[in-house]
Amino acid sequence: MNTKSLATFKKAFRTNISSARAECNCGAEFHHPDRMKWDFEDEEIQFLQNHSTELDAPVTYLEFDNREYVTECDCWHKKAERLMNFLEAYNVGIAKYLNDERARRMHEAAQMQIINILRQGDLLPQEDYDDGVPF
Ligand SMILES: [Zn+2]
Repeated sequence: MNTKSLATFKKAFRTNISSARAECNCGAEFHHPDRMKWDFEDEEIQFLQNHSTELDAPVTYLEFDNREYVTECDCWHKKAERLMNFLEAYNVGIAKYLNDERARRMHEAAQMQIINILRQGDLLPQEDYDDGVPF
């Protein structure tokens, strides 16, 4: 697998969330045992040392295919490779689809009626009142 492409994939599909510990979609557990940064109980750290992969940085995530993966896990690499191959093979069609969909949605949005929402206390122009009561 091309490691530079994999790095690009990680950057594209990473979430901006990190944590002390997490279970990957595959069931593997990971943790960052920095007790200055995270509030672990003694028993929790002992459990994690026996049942979890220790990382030297906070646990981070990728999200694609409606699933969440721990970045450091390798269970998602084969699926990512298939997706990268698909994206590369059909990049022109994908770009055309995204641009055409954007244009279609922009046209559809321009056709939508603007709805004004009044909150209590909002003032209406005088012509919007019927006998002094907003309707
Ligand atoms: Zn995994």
